[in-house]
Formats: sequence, structure tokens, C-alpha cells
Amino acid sequence: DPVSVGEAAAAWRRTLGDATLEAPDRLAAVAGGLALGEDPGRWWFQREWTAQDAPPKEHLSLSFSRLDRLENCELQFVLGDELGLDPGGGYQAWVGRLIHQLIEDVENGKVERTQAAFIEALNERWQEPRFPSYAVSEAERRHAIRVLIPNWFKRYADLPAEATEQAFRFEYEGATIKGKIDRIGPVPEGGRRITDYKTGAADNADRPAESLQLGIYYLAVNECDDLAPYRPVDAVELAYLPGKKGKWELVPLSWQVSGAEENYKATMRERLSGLIESVRRLDREGRSSPSTTARCFFCRFQTMCSRYPEGGEVFPVARPISLKAAAEAGP
Ligand code: SF4
Repeated sequence: DPVSVGEAAAAWRRTLGDATLEAPDRLAAVAGGLALGEDPGRWWFQREWTAQDAPPKEHLSLSFSRLDRLENCELQFVLGDELGLDPGGGYQAWVGRLIHQLIEDVENGKVERTQAAFIEALNERWQEPRFPSYAVSEAERRHAIRVLIPNWFKRYADLPAEATEQAFRFEYEGATIKGKIDRIGPVPEGGRRITDYKTGAADNADRPAESLQLGIYYLAVNECDDLAPYRPVDAVELAYLPGKKGKWELVPLSWQVSGAEENYKATMRERLSGLIESVRRLDREGRSSPSTTARCFFCRFQTMCSRYPEGGEVFPVARPISLKAAAEAGP
């Protein structure tokens, strides 16, 4: 059973939107929603689309996160990035940003390069109101202190980064590609790597060789003149700070680029070209569809997506019959 008003409202709405259920159950769900203060007049799919006559954009400005959403699902991209409807990440995303910021401050000397100083800075900046409860806040804080921070120190403390949160911007096929690289520098295995820190567990980790994010970062280091001091890059890696659940040891997943640089660059350029073309097509056509292969777990738009019952039309919409078809059908 639902444990909060929000969850109960969503459950009633799902019931109402599920065309396979009995009509009395669906109607009862309306009463349930109204009793919880829902306003069906504000629900998605009750209004016409706004006019789509804006001129196509001349110049595109794209970051990895936008392209990543587009690669996952064009509807998610349009709703989140083009229309700006994404309400932002939850408390896990906030913890991730805090850890990234603290690592940057340690690398830049703003926080002393010791675990004690790192933990002290974490405690000072911790914001309990961002969490759904004190218990969740404490669990996350302890996880950061007992797992994330020691794991980072074990791997990177003795090897200062050459660059941290390194901004980049380069032109590609009429678009500006921009972003920030978490870390460029030496690693215990030897050589220079581009690293992206992950604060989520490695159990369902991405494959680094197929990571669009690492590919864009690699292209950036090779395209941007101001990043020339960081060439050559030997490998790219995704560093899962918590490691796998239960084991909790940092998992660095790497892809050795040296020896296959040109192939790697060509593959990533092709992927980037395809995505830029998709952005232009969406802009031209003003129409987007949910992807049948999308990873929807973290998508905030399930209530607006026709792949899910609550995102479809609440009541079937009669298909309009053209006058010509009606005339041909006869009396
Ligand atoms: S729920 Fe899935 S299919 Fe629907 S918009 Fe989100 S990612 Fe796309």
C-alpha cells in the first residue's frame, strides 16, 4: 500500500489511466485523487500542444549529459533538456556533487590532503534538510565517510591529478560540445588517464569502451588547444568510488586507448555526428517519441510518457474522421 500522499495520488492516477481495468475501479480512482487534493485539470494530456512554429536553432550547444539523455530516449531529452521540465536530481545526486566538489578542493589545495580534513569538510557542508529523513541523511553521510572517502584516498591520494574539473569546449559539425572532465592524471597502473568518478555502485556499471562520456572527453583532450598539455592519454576510466554492493572497494573500469586511438576517435565521432543530427531532426520536426529500448528507471517523466499507463490519455481519444473519408463511407 502507498506510504505517502504523493505515492497514493500516483497509484490512483495509474489506476485511472489503465484501460485494462474495470470502469468502476477507474472512476473510483478519480474520487480517490480528488480526496487527496489532486487537480485533474492540471494533468498532462488534457491540453493541446503549444504552437511549433519557432524557427530551427542556428547553433547548438551540447553537453555530455544532454547527449546521454538523447541517446537513451528522445522524449526524455525533449522534456528534460529542451523544455526544461526536469526537476533536478534527488539527494543521491546532491551527495555526488558534494563528493566531486570536495575532491576538487583537495586536489586544488583548498582542503588539506588528509582523510581527516576531507571528513571535516564533508561534515561542515552536509545539509540534512536535503534528505527525506534524518535516518537517510545519516546513512548517506556514514557511507561517504566509511566508503567513498577512504576508497578515493587509497587510489588517488599519492597521485595528485594534473587537472581536476577541467572545462572544455570544442566545435563539431556546427555544434559546440562542452563539459567538465573530473580528472586527468596518473594512476597506480601507470600512464595518464581520463577519469570520471561515479558515486553510485558498480553493480550495473557501464562499459568504459562504450561510454559516450569518456569518448567525448577523449575527443576534447585531442581537439582543444588548451588541453594539449594533457596529451597523450593512455586510457579512460570510470572510477566507481563505492565499488560493488557488499564489497565496497573502489572499482576502476578502464579502456586502454593507446594503440587504437584512431579507431576509438572515429567511433566516437560517428556517434556524436548521429546525435547532433538527431537534435537537428527533433528541432525541425517538433515531434518526439518515447524509445522502446530506453532505460527508464531514473527518468522523471514516466507520468508523461505513453509507455506507462499514467502517461497515456486518461480516456480514449476518438480518432478524427476526415470529411472526405466520411463522404466516401456514404450514409
Ligand atoms: S519513461 Fe522511458 S520511454 Fe518514457 S520518456 Fe522516460 S526514458 Fe523515455
